[in-house]
Amino acid sequence: MTERPDIAAPRLADLGLSTARPLVLIDVDEVLGLFMQGFGDYLAEQGLEMRIERFALFQNIYRPGETQHLDIAEGKAHFDAFFSGHCHLMEPAPGAIAALNRLGKSAEILILSNAPADAEQLRAEWLRMHGMDHPLILNSGPKGPIASALIGQTPHKTAFVDDLLSNLDSVADHSPPTATFQHVADLRLRRYAPASDRHPRIDDWAELGEAIEAAIRG
Ligand SMILES: [Mg+2]
Repeated sequence: MTERPDIAAPRLADLGLSTARPLVLIDVDEVLGLFMQGFGDYLAEQGLEMRIERFALFQNIYRPGETQHLDIAEGKAHFDAFFSGHCHLMEPAPGAIAALNRLGKSAEILILSNAPADAEQLRAEWLRMHGMDHPLILNSGPKGPIASALIGQTPHKTAFVDDLLSNLDSVADHSPPTATFQHVADLRLRRYAPASDRHPRIDDWAELGEAIEAAIRG
């Protein structure tokens, strides 16, 4: 566990969030939104293919007919371009909007997304467009330090949802009382996504919403 006392987290009050209710931190890509599908659609417009053959990103991008994946730096350039101009076009994950609306009745919701900084406006627009109008923080790197700085501001129960074990482990390490849940939205990706006994893996949003509600109740 790496302590990061220097981490700068906004005040919940400044984000418009109350400390009088439980706090739920939720990821976007592959949790609220179908990122691999959206990025894959963008890549197709660039004449490329997203082949979901492993739990990876840049290693799954190919030129049609080729067996060696695209150069990682080239894939990263497409990734940045997707976030700066196209990330508002992706589809919400099935069931995510309804579950979030329900959760919002009993909890404060904060969207914690690892995305390039210049995606902020489009990502916030995407959330608004789909009725998930909750405060958004863009982070880079493991989410534990910023999550614990946010969670430390509320006396209530907290929960965190992400598709990546690295983020789930980081939050569990930095904030042990927080309930952590893994959700992998993309049907094709699910069988490749590693799971862990540390975090319940719930790929159905209706079921996940109920599990979060149970975890933050009381
Ligand atoms: Mg994600």
